[in-house]
Amino acid sequence: MIGVISFTLIAFIFAILIVLLNGYLFSDDEKLSKLEEMLPGYNCGSCGFGSCKGMAKAILKDKEAVYKCRPLRDKEEILKYLGE
Ligand code: SF4
Repeated sequence: MIGVISFTLIAFIFAILIVLLNGYLFSDDEKLSKLEEMLPGYNCGSCGFGSCKGMAKAILKDKEAVYKCRPLRDKEEILKYLGE
């Protein structure tokens, strides 16, 4: 009986950890996808990050990176999305 209770308790703790980690990881993935959608999508590499996906990752680390995308006309939209 103790074994069943211990196993259930451990499974419950792992389930909570997985849900918390998934929520943390998913929120960044969601932001990354949204930022990629907001970028022009030319993948020209002139920003220095190789692609729009690279740029989206850079913007997540430093909002000022948005100014390196010359084709992007509405930089304010991205800054607003990030809470500027
Ligand atoms: S400069 Fe802009 S359009 Fe070109 S790859 Fe970078 S983010 Fe994409």
